[in-house]
Amino acid sequence: MRVCRFEKDRVGIVIGGEVLDITYIVEAFPVYRYPLPQYDPLIAHLGVVQEQFEQILTSAPRLRLDNVILDSPIANPGKIIAAPVNYRDHVDEMLLDPAIDHHLAQKPIAEVGLFLKATSSLIGPSDPILIRDSKRRTDYEVELAVIIGKDADRVSRECAMDYVAGYCIGLDITTRGPEDRSMRKSSDTFTVMGPWMVTADELDDPSNLDITLSLNGFQRQNSNTKDLIMDVPALISFASSFYTLRAGDVILTGTPAGVGPLQIGDQIVSHIQGIGEMATSVAS
Ligand code: MN
Repeated sequence: MRVCRFEKDRVGIVIGGEVLDITYIVEAFPVYRYPLPQYDPLIAHLGVVQEQFEQILTSAPRLRLDNVILDSPIANPGKIIAAPVNYRDHVDEMLLDPAIDHHLAQKPIAEVGLFLKATSSLIGPSDPILIRDSKRRTDYEVELAVIIGKDADRVSRECAMDYVAGYCIGLDITTRGPEDRSMRKSSDTFTVMGPWMVTADELDDPSNLDITLSLNGFQRQNSNTKDLIMDVPALISFASSFYTLRAGDVILTGTPAGVGPLQIGDQIVSHIQGIGEMATSVAS
């Protein structure tokens, strides 16, 4: 199942070239009052959507996918967790790039840990990435994004995949420089997720997916998730050893080689096998 959000307050299921509007199902979810939960209600209630899938096929209003403005498939992630250098080829390119602090590339994730991006940095594919300071170098990074489906507290690698709700494409936009990653990667619009979430029952093995990014029509990143240094189950197990993962939390799994700077006016097309393609623009 491919779950999307669109027009800011609508939820849909993508089937072929159509979006089936299931907002009426989401509106029947429990009403939350302050203080709001630390999880994403849509992801927490995904089972309700799945139970009604047959009925959705016959009765949900249908729209043309081309005509809808897509938002991030996750509206309210409690945490956006990200892996630093996690592809072997990206380690090599970082060591050759004078703009990148080399000591960042040399230690394994198990030693340096994961980092967090502000949830306020999140946008969907229809919103532009906004370059905040054009004098600083700001890079694209395409990444497989893992969406957690339920509370995961100190889970083993063997059980980790039971906690995955689904996957989408993620862009981890990054200003290069000396500040902590959590600051350089958390500017407004610096996390793009889309174009929809593919649920784990449809995409059950994330360990061998082609992943590419093109900038203005030229391919810049081209790899496969089999080259991840710390794979998806290991990332979930490691993250959950430090904090409880909640429904809707996101793990950005790291980017392969080919990162480079963005300019205002650029057009990014990212693709992950089994998920789809996402077009994103860059503005100021
Ligand atoms: Mn990254």
